[in-house]
Amino acid sequence: GRRTYRFFEPEMDAKVRERRQLESDLRHAIALGGLEGGLEVYYQPCLSLKDDRITGCEALVRWRHPERGMVSPAEFIPIAEDTGLINEIGEWVLATACRDAANWPDDIRLAVNVSPVQFKSGTLALKIMAALAASNLPASRLELEITEAVLIRDDDAALTILHQLRAIGVRIALDDFGTGYSSLSYLHRFPFDKIKIDRCFVDDIAGPDGSASIVQAVVNLATARRMTTTAEGVETEEQQRLLRALGCSEMQGYLFSAAKPADKVLELFALHRSR
Ligand code: C2E
Ligand code: CA
Ligand code: CA
Ligand code: CA
Repeated sequence: GRRTYRFFEPEMDAKVRERRQLESDLRHAIALGGLEGGLEVYYQPCLSLKDDRITGCEALVRWRHPERGMVSPAEFIPIAEDTGLINEIGEWVLATACRDAANWPDDIRLAVNVSPVQFKSGTLALKIMAALAASNLPASRLELEITEAVLIRDDDAALTILHQLRAIGVRIALDDFGTGYSSLSYLHRFPFDKIKIDRCFVDDIAGPDGSASIVQAVVNLATARRMTTTAEGVETEEQQRLLRALGCSEMQGYLFSAAKPADKVLELFALHRSR
């Protein structure tokens, strides 16, 4: 009611002001050209559970704010999505990541997160093709991570874009599977190459009433539809062992490596290869 609203007003004001400030700082960061504005792309490797090879890396954006220090993408991506700034940020991340990945061994893929908002602009497919052409990265080495939010409105436009990208060889992964409103109908609506099993299922996979049976069901489903599976947020040896036993194809998580800057991830490739 009115009273409650008045009661919370000062706090709400502060929240709104902080959000506006972050928005304008973010706008400034992009105008400066990304890197100069403190934006950076880190890469988290993904490991095959079959043979311990590094199969790919996921690009994760970082923002070093001049006063606040590191701001988490969990905080600034939603702001960027609400304001449309995600279109510029996403384009910058894609171009930067494709350029970096062109220097990787050619059996290592690049995965890039794409926001549902970026599908609304109508130029996404063109921007992706431009980033591939400018970097000389083969389309087959790029994988896009999308969430079911992209498909939620049964959006024909988004499906058309996904099919266009698929046709040139780009792979499509369904991110955060099992969270939000995800339903099996999304798997039916689009032939994904990969399902990323959300961290929440990995977190309690080892418990007595754990999620092992759910992970098993997802892996079986994926296998039947010729999709691979990547488990997110793997932090312990036991989780790794269970995931391998359940037939999950790949894993990502702090157990192997957190996301690292481009030069550090190159060092990791070399080290891992000569191990
Ligand atoms: P996500 O796509 O689900 O990315 C995985 C997140 O889990 C990353 O957080 C990663 O650093 C973190 N993580 C990886 N391994 C572990 C682990 O073993 N334990 C734990 N506790 N966490 C782990 P990050 O980098 O903070 O990103 C958060 C979210 O922000 C991402 O979730 C993604 O939704 C979004 N995001 C990040 N970069 C981009 C981007 O370039 N574009 C878009 N659209 N979204 C992005
Ligand atoms: Ca992701
Ligand atoms: Ca995820
Ligand atoms: Ca997420």
